[in-house]
Amino acid sequence: SMIADQEAAFLARTGESRRIRRDCADVLAGGVASNWQDAPPGAVWISHGSGSRIVDVDGTSYVDLHGGFGVGLVGHAHPAIVAAVGERVRRGTHFAQPTEDAVVVARALARRFGLPMWRFGNSGTEATMDAVHLMRVATGRMKIIKVEGSYHGHHDSVEVSVYPSAEDAGPAFRPRSVRQGLAVPPDLARLTIVVPFGDLEAVERALIENPGEIAGMIVEPIMMNIGLIPPPDGYLGTLKALLNRHGAYLAFDEVKTGLAVAPGGASELLGVAPDLICLAKALGGGLPCGAIGGTPELMGLIAEGVYEQVGTFNGNPLTMAAARTVLLDVLNDGAYRHFERLRAIMSEGAVAVLRAHGLAGYVQSFGAKGAVIFHDRLLRNYRDFLDYPDQWGQAHWLYQHNGGVFLPPWGKCEQWTVSVQHGEDDVRRFLVNLERMARDYA
Ligand code: PLP
Repeated sequence: SMIADQEAAFLARTGESRRIRRDCADVLAGGVASNWQDAPPGAVWISHGSGSRIVDVDGTSYVDLHGGFGVGLVGHAHPAIVAAVGERVRRGTHFAQPTEDAVVVARALARRFGLPMWRFGNSGTEATMDAVHLMRVATGRMKIIKVEGSYHGHHDSVEVSVYPSAEDAGPAFRPRSVRQGLAVPPDLARLTIVVPFGDLEAVERALIENPGEIAGMIVEPIMMNIGLIPPPDGYLGTLKALLNRHGAYLAFDEVKTGLAVAPGGASELLGVAPDLICLAKALGGGLPCGAIGGTPELMGLIAEGVYEQVGTFNGNPLTMAAARTVLLDVLNDGAYRHFERLRAIMSEGAVAVLRAHGLAGYVQSFGAKGAVIFHDRLLRNYRDFLDYPDQWGQAHWLYQHNGGVFLPPWGKCEQWTVSVQHGEDDVRRFLVNLERMARDYA
């Protein structure tokens, strides 16, 4: 009934969102622009954002910890981004010819991520698709390995093993390749071999059972779509060596971790250099952007025209101007110190609240991102995540929302993102709402 009260409060505040949604359902399929914008108990339509805040169409202002699914490291309408993008708009926004900002951005990424050559796209999906394609072209092998439950975007080869229940997914140590929905050809899904996160034996088994057939593996170095799960010690380094020993490559999907956990992403933070890195989200500072970086061996295939990495909007001048500003001006050393300060307040504060009220749970956090996981055991992989009951996550989302803090919807699985424009007051409000929930339930 506490959840019912919270839901009622939410619905009472968001009438205009529901009116718009009802009225547009005849022209906008499903009443939203992307399925994930429609989480229970309803889509919230946004009017504008500024600094650490967003305002919905009912006029309610929220501290934004959703960050547009982790994009928002710069916050909203950051003056430096507004100036750079504004200037670029006045000088023309699209030519499908290169502009000099693309070079500046590529150099900045090479410096941060330790991989020398880069290309651009428009989303995380395009970046992970390029990674899969490059590994296939480089090896002439068609199979790839991915981690169970890991989300890498919406192209066919990675739309495998992202299911709401593991009922038909086979044993935990050897998950079957289950396609995500009817659009994925079963023959293609079979080319994607699924392993549990953190399990090196499963990867070795896959390599031995498919000799000379595996092009490489794509993995989120820190899993960020099922709560937040760091890798076991030594996992990623051993993974790299194991794959390379079998003539296969390792691609890091750093779409979420990329600029958020350290200036050079999880690869820098954890000290593992993969063959490829996929970026998106925060890189564009709020504009749609993706990037792929890699070794000369792999990226040389693009340079030589063996793999055609293309796209009308690749390296779009507007996006490149924003990305240049993100990398050179906004996400400087001070920004990372700021993220660390806020991270400490949030994680230590949240743990204190859980302890004080005897609520089961723990906090995982890195840089600008973190999550409260309301569970008495550490989640290690997707099966653990599926076993973890989602009642607290959803209640928490509602308490935060009604208390003026916007977390990513789908309560159980998404984490907070702070920006350079968030302050201590913003994150303390998060703790106040968590405490309110803990008090109601204790
Ligand atoms: N990879 C990861 C880890 C993601 O979290 C996402 C998006 O949520 C993607 C890839 C796909 O990115 P996009 O939605 O920009 O295509």
